This record gives sequence, C-alpha cells and structure tokens, in this order.
Amino acid sequence: MTSQRTRERLVQRLVEQGIRDTSVLDVMRITPRHLFLDEAMAHRAYEDVALPIGFQQTLSQPYVVARMTELLLAAGPRSRVLEIGTGSGYQTTILAQLVAEVYSVERIKTLQQKARQRLRQLKLRNVHMNHADGGMGWQERGPYDGILVTAAPERIPEDLLLQLALGGRLVIPVGKELQHLQVVTRTHEGYETEIVEAVFFVPLRPGKEK
Ligand code: SAH
Repeated sequence: MTSQRTRERLVQRLVEQGIRDTSVLDVMRITPRHLFLDEAMAHRAYEDVALPIGFQQTLSQPYVVARMTELLLAAGPRSRVLEIGTGSGYQTTILAQLVAEVYSVERIKTLQQKARQRLRQLKLRNVHMNHADGGMGWQERGPYDGILVTAAPERIPEDLLLQLALGGRLVIPVGKELQHLQVVTRTHEGYETEIVEAVFFVPLRPGKEK
C-alpha cells in the first residue's frame, strides 16, 4: 500500500495523463501521500482520486496537485509561494520541496494543526502557516511570485491579484458548479489570464473556524 512500487504506478499514471515536469513527478514519487490521510482512508492514498479529510474537505486528486504545481512552475522557478487551503498539507509538502518558501493559509484550525504535525514529521522547515481567511491572501508576507489556491471562489479575489509580484503567477480554480483552472500572470500592463481545464474543488469560504 505504501510501497515505492505503488507510488511508481501513480507517477506512471500522471505521465499518461500528460504531466511532463520531471521535478514535479520526482517529488510526487518520493512523497508519502498516505501520511496525509486518517488511518481509515490511508489504503486508498495512491489511487488517483480526491479523498475525504474531514470537515467536508478533501485531499486533492494527485493529477490535479501535479497539474497545478506544473502550471505554477511553468514560467521558471518560484521563490515565495502563497498557498490558500492547506487542508491535509499534501499540496503544501509538494510545493515545499520545489520552491524556497511556502506561506500557507487555512481557515479550519484543526486541519491546520494536523497538517503542521505532518510537515514537522517530514522535517520541512520552509513552510509558514496562518490560520485566517485566505480570500484576503497574506499581505504581510507578500508579494509572492506564485499563488496557488486549492478551493474555488466564484470570482478571483482582488487581494490575491494585488499580492502577486510582477511576473508572478496565480493558479486558481474559479466557478460554482462549473469550475475552470485559471492561470493569471501579472505583467507591466496588468494581468493576463489563461483558462486551462475543467476541475472540481470545494468552495472557497469566508471567515475562519476552529
Ligand atoms: N490542498 C489541500 C486541499 C484541501 S481542500 C490538500 O491537498 O489537502 C480545500 C481547503 O481549503 C480546505 O481545507 C478548506 O478548509 C480550505 N479553505 C476554504 N476556504 C478557505 C479560505 N477562505 N481560506 C483558507 N482556507 C480555505
């Protein structure tokens, strides 16, 4: 279940689905996804599906994690990345192995605490966490050359656009029932938007909870 071979099969499937960035594939090959699930779900960790993590939230599907990470890095390396929706901390862990510093915001305290423990266990020291409504970004630590959002707003929050550095990229699912992954790049002229593919994420919700 947790073996290297099982993970290798998952990576093979990601390649078949069109993931090309070898640095992303390498990191997904070595990251133990089962550690991000409760025991009852851990046996399904290497299936390419989203899985429940409590509080009506899900650990994103591996293909989607790989795709979003690949899109974030597609225009060159990123050094300061803001993630909205820490959840289990799996996407955070993938990012932390590929960029210099990760700033991750989660609105549900219990999920954040569990994610923090997992990151400590994996000895990742370049992740900074904030319990807040990530729809407002994390202004104090910005600007960011990358922002990755793992819950879907109906429209892109203005604050996230403002916290993007020049040349920075925002990867975000947008929409209600029908959602699309979008990549927004900040340029000298303003913002350029690319619509990538249909996705399904839990909604970005306002406020914060215990
Ligand atoms: N990347 C996570 C996905 C978790 S699901 C993983 O791989 O496990 C989306 C997460 O976004 C949930 O944990 C949810 O609580 C969080 N979320 C939703 N709205 C938010 C907001 N406004 N600010 C911060 N986190 C939010």
